[in-house]
Amino acid sequence: MRREQKFWGWGEPGAGPRLPDHAAGLLREWLGVSGAVVSAPVDLRDVRLRPPVVSAALRAALERAVGAEHVRDDRSIRVLRAAGRSYLDLLALRTGACEDAPDVVVAPSGHEQVAVVLRACAGFGAAVIPFGGGTSVVGGVAPVRGSWDTAVCLDLGRLDAVLDVDTRSRIARVGAGVRLPELDHALGADGLRLGHLPQSYEWATVGGCAATRSAGQASTGFGRFDELVAALRCATPAGDLETLGAPASAAGPDLRALVLGSEGTLGAITELALRLRPVASERRYEAWQARSFDAGCEALRALTQAGAAPDVVRLSDADETRTTLALAGERGLLRRLGEAALRALRRGDGCLLIVGWEGGAVSRRRAAAARALRAGGALPLGRGPGEAWRAARFAAPHLRDALLDRGVLVETLETATTWAGLASLHRAVRAALQTALAATPPVVGCHVSHVYPDGASLYFTVLARQDAGDPAGQWRSAKRAAGDAIAAAGATITHHHAVGRDHAPWLESEHGALGVELLRAAKERCDPAGIMNPGKLLPAG
Ligand SMILES: Cc1cc2nc3c(=O)[nH]c(=O)nc-3n(C[C@H](O)[C@H](O)[C@H](O)COP(=O)(O)OP(=O)(O)OC[C@H]3O[C@@H](n4cnc5c(N)ncnc54)[C@H](O)[C@@H]3O)c2cc1C
Repeated sequence: MRREQKFWGWGEPGAGPRLPDHAAGLLREWLGVSGAVVSAPVDLRDVRLRPPVVSAALRAALERAVGAEHVRDDRSIRVLRAAGRSYLDLLALRTGACEDAPDVVVAPSGHEQVAVVLRACAGFGAAVIPFGGGTSVVGGVAPVRGSWDTAVCLDLGRLDAVLDVDTRSRIARVGAGVRLPELDHALGADGLRLGHLPQSYEWATVGGCAATRSAGQASTGFGRFDELVAALRCATPAGDLETLGAPASAAGPDLRALVLGSEGTLGAITELALRLRPVASERRYEAWQARSFDAGCEALRALTQAGAAPDVVRLSDADETRTTLALAGERGLLRRLGEAALRALRRGDGCLLIVGWEGGAVSRRRAAAARALRAGGALPLGRGPGEAWRAARFAAPHLRDALLDRGVLVETLETATTWAGLASLHRAVRAALQTALAATPPVVGCHVSHVYPDGASLYFTVLARQDAGDPAGQWRSAKRAAGDAIAAAGATITHHHAVGRDHAPWLESEHGALGVELLRAAKERCDPAGIMNPGKLLPAG
């Protein structure tokens, strides 16, 4: 039996940490909410669904393809597959607004069954929405029907086998539905791991990570998910696309790259050959205090361009430093910071930087990075707060549910640009969010989450009092303002969350008209009927 999250939030019921008691006072002070629980998710029985629309012929074809027990349209499965995990998704799910839930959920067990399901949906006319872990935060798994009456959720969770581990080449061939922790656990028997650690680690699948070009917390050192994919197999309505598992190739344009990031619009990725690394023999996480956000960025630029970037890098701006420390209270991270550093950071003097190394030669790599950080004016705060961050690094999504209970708008967004443009991008996005949410003055924190020789990504977290009348509209207008500011700055609309439905309006400003036409042409060739994940990635044309 596959584990499932609660339908309205993050994780299994009761899992994860609770909001600390002192958070209520902080929320009152920062956002003007009472800090008390003001809303609760509806019961599954009260979720609003429309009767499923599935023709008898399509149902029979699906049942022939995967077996009747794997074609489901009961309330529970339709609600569980109705949405991803963005703030807007959670707002809708908590109030039981599931009218667009898929009509039917089909769970094939392998590549051939996926191919038959796609042919049936193309033949009988139904939208197909591939579903991995369902952790999309950009509307990627929203059951948009396009021109079809029926939405079929293609649940890839049964493609969960580790098919082969080539320990000599350090490559594993795996089904697309394998979840990240399950893969690392299975590989551990051979002393190997994938080591891809997005904050959604507990639930995301390898297929979903490939389809969205995900980045994990250690991607600065280990590489983004794109770089971990040696080869892939994708079933499209027009046939199979399979790339060669050679370590490198000059055989024309990289078709692997065409499928990576295609977000289910071309077909369903069914298998991946993934590059592995040995289980870490050493590990070290620590915290530093940068004089300011700009000074910290400058130190990170120098460090990265000198080839000394740690595997994990996370530099918070002053507001994120202040809110992180305040929320941590007397536990964890805070308890382990020295008194002097704590006083300084609380005063707003400086910014918190977390750095980490995993694998071999940690002492040598750490020494090089420490030299560069000191040269950039940063001060070491020791291993305690770094290890505390590592221990709590998957906690935040659990706390989000408690914040929603308390009437808090809580959402994140991310982007990336060159070092030359980073400071002005930071200012522009903050200003856009603060202006758009001026009626409910927000707390906007930001951190550099990944660094490259030529630039870095910025990850923003927004907290505000919910507009009780129209909480969804409140966030939509803030998100639009932030997206426009990002596009105006010439930065990417997404460094790792992908495009989905929510970022599609900005795709053309990133790729240009011809670029979007090329993507459309590829889709039309692989998916002539237009059944694959309508309304995602490509702007409405
Ligand atoms: C709390 C939280 C934290 C997150 N942190 C990170 C982070 O640190 N880094 C990061 O990169 N992302 C992060 N995300 C976003 C999300 O986890 C990633 O986009 C992840 O890659 C999605 O994987 P999934 O298996 O859940 O895919 P899903 O959400 O199921 O699907 C994502 C998209 O890919 C398509 N798709 C899924 N599987 C396949 C397949 N096999 N073939 C073709 N198309 C497919 C879907 O149709 C959809 O468009 C976070 C999300 C949440 C909710």
